[in-house]
Amino acid sequence: MLEKIDDKYLDPNFKDFIDDEKIWNEINEGKNASKEEIREIIKKSLSKKRLEPSETAKLISVEDENLLNEMYEAAYKIKEDVYGKRIVFFAPLYIGNKCENNCLYCGFRRGNSSIVRKTLTDEELKHEVEIMINSGQKRSILVYGEHPFYDADFIARTIKVVYGVKSKTGELRRVNINAAPLDVEGYKKLHEAGIGTFQIFQETYHHETYRKIHPKGDRKSNYAWRLYGLDRAMEGGIDDLGIGALFGLYDWRFEVMGLLYHTIHLEEKFGGIGPHTISFPRIEPAIDTPFTQNPKYKVSDKDFKKLVAIIRLSVPYTGMILTARESAKVRKEVLPIGITQIDAGTRIGVGGYSEYEKETIPDKEQFTIGDPRSLDEVIKEICDMGYIPSFCTAGYRSARTGKKFMGLAKPGLVHNYCMPNAILTFKEYLLDYASEETKKAGEKAIQKHLSELSEDRRKIVVERLKQIEEGKRDVYV
Ligand code: SAM
Ligand code: SF4
Repeated sequence: MLEKIDDKYLDPNFKDFIDDEKIWNEINEGKNASKEEIREIIKKSLSKKRLEPSETAKLISVEDENLLNEMYEAAYKIKEDVYGKRIVFFAPLYIGNKCENNCLYCGFRRGNSSIVRKTLTDEELKHEVEIMINSGQKRSILVYGEHPFYDADFIARTIKVVYGVKSKTGELRRVNINAAPLDVEGYKKLHEAGIGTFQIFQETYHHETYRKIHPKGDRKSNYAWRLYGLDRAMEGGIDDLGIGALFGLYDWRFEVMGLLYHTIHLEEKFGGIGPHTISFPRIEPAIDTPFTQNPKYKVSDKDFKKLVAIIRLSVPYTGMILTARESAKVRKEVLPIGITQIDAGTRIGVGGYSEYEKETIPDKEQFTIGDPRSLDEVIKEICDMGYIPSFCTAGYRSARTGKKFMGLAKPGLVHNYCMPNAILTFKEYLLDYASEETKKAGEKAIQKHLSELSEDRRKIVVERLKQIEEGKRDVYV
């Protein structure tokens, strides 16, 4: 059973923290910014301070190619300073595509009769997880439609099933969730089940557009219930939150401002704990979903790159997720300017990993992905680009989340924990799953990044690498 929506969110006079008019005024005023002002703002970002909305609005207005390049360089530098050269890998796992809502942009909407409705049984779920583990995955995000069947008890049970699968070479060590917003009691159940991040995309922060694309009467049509979904998660004990907007529903400039206002709201309300990650998916085509064909606000590749850099500059400490919705080409281009996490080896059909050789099963998919390459292929490319893949899950298992994470999210965290753990978890991947070619590229990457650690840390990591070579697993600092 789905929980009852709080009366306050049903009150037509309820005022939330997104003020559409104010945002548009800020965007319009931003157009007057001088080059000097823009450079001052870039400097502030480089000192790793979060920007104010009026400052982000000024970055949004930049068209000058030289200034844009300065923004890209700064975004690159911030990512390197805060997160180093590590890129965290994960893969989504779709549990069920039943849905009571009729969101215009989504293949799973209830009115779409081209979709075969399917919820994985426990046995099917275990099988999907085994296939993921056997390809080297360690982190996953479980995804659900919005349906009374997928209530908090159901979600908690699936989390337990997933954690319970142990294969010869390992297990999924971190399970995140992307599901409909819950009530506080529901979140408590997920917290107890050992959830990592709870992720909710607001889709669009623009009230009128939200109303147009989420038909009246649907649960999802309640903007405020969704907007405050992560506040309730915090109240339920989950301090690891993911926000996002679906780009292409409304003007991208407004959505970037919305993401920033959401960040500020969470930081102010919860003693400095903002979102752990920000996602910025673009609308992809979905079976029999005309809205996705040529959306009015479709974001070009050029604007996409710009908005990624602006988010990086606006919130220097927050993780940024770039999904396999994007093509390999776009991912390669955008990754260096701020991305901290990507998915690879991705299948998004319900039961998609069990039919892995089929890149797509459109009648069980929410949309079509742009990068269906295998995990091994993407890992090799990432190494060749000078990065180190990470399967680290130590942060959350050592309770380095929420306030603790925010306090550590300075270079010390990366250099003391994240880089060593990236190297250690990547070594496990190379030994257990990698192709010969990827092994070669990977060993080279490990040597390079090892040489960049401080002497103390290097010593510890070299010792633990030896333990891994001798057969020990799940080694971290
Ligand atoms: N059903 C839950 C909900 O709506 O909150 C869970 C999320 S849904 C399964 C995952 C996300 O996919 C949505 O929040 C939306 O942003 C995104 N999505 C939906 N349709 C999409 C499309 N055509 N292209 C890309 N992303 C899409
Ligand atoms: Fe259902 Fe979520 Fe798709 Fe909307 S976005 S139709 S709620 S699965």
